Amino acid sequence: MSELYYLLQKSCMSKKLKYEDVKEYINRYGYELLEDTYISNGKNMKILDSDGYLYSVTFGNFKDYMENCHKKFDIVNNFNPYSIHNINNFIQSFGYNTIVLDNEYCHGSKYKLNLLCECGETFKASWDKIRNRGKMVCPRCLRTRESYNEKKVRQVLSDSHINFIQEKREYINHDTYVVFDFYLPEYRTVIEVNGEQHYHPVTFGGISLKKAVEKFNKQVIMDEKKDKYCSNNNINLIKIPYWEFKKGNKYIERINNIIRED
Ligand SMILES: [Zn+2]
Repeated sequence: MSELYYLLQKSCMSKKLKYEDVKEYINRYGYELLEDTYISNGKNMKILDSDGYLYSVTFGNFKDYMENCHKKFDIVNNFNPYSIHNINNFIQSFGYNTIVLDNEYCHGSKYKLNLLCECGETFKASWDKIRNRGKMVCPRCLRTRESYNEKKVRQVLSDSHINFIQEKREYINHDTYVVFDFYLPEYRTVIEVNGEQHYHPVTFGGISLKKAVEKFNKQVIMDEKKDKYCSNNNINLIKIPYWEFKKGNKYIERINNIIRED
């Protein structure tokens, strides 16, 4: 294999590995060593992967795993002391601000963890349920997810004293219509609050991938109808994607821009 590998083999046979060599070896597999020293082959070390997940492994196990298993470590299991950190990281990677309230993960993947939803509600969900993306927000937010973000938009519009019609229905022809989340008559503007399902198939609530794809395809057609309606009728269409509700107050800025540009 590599020069480094031989170096490691050699140093294994002689005496202790050098810190720099261990660090470089770990790096080579896409992980980062988060220790200042290297003690021994059998001592657990904290390592980080490129997706922000943490692991605790001995150098012996790391080498073994990388060279023989050719796969990634489990981000969550009873032996990983950073499991809770990793679950939070997993949830955040999907754009949710829900956090795990438990301090340690030690009862297995079916055990119900306590979580604090981004809306402020607490709820319970197992790692199995979180992992299959069914339960990253509380049951109420899961049911009314769209309206939760819509509520935020409604609040900003009200606070800014902007006239709006919510759930505005517009007929495309005599039997087909589209429903816009918000219509601002004075600005001839529509605001669409777009959840994740507008951008890719989502298996929320445990629906099958096939169903999710079908739903997504319908969504794309519906969104195209809305685009067409707005351009044909000279209506300004503002789409606020779900991620703009996650970090900072991007969505507020977007609403303020409508007023400013007028
Ligand atoms: Zn919630």
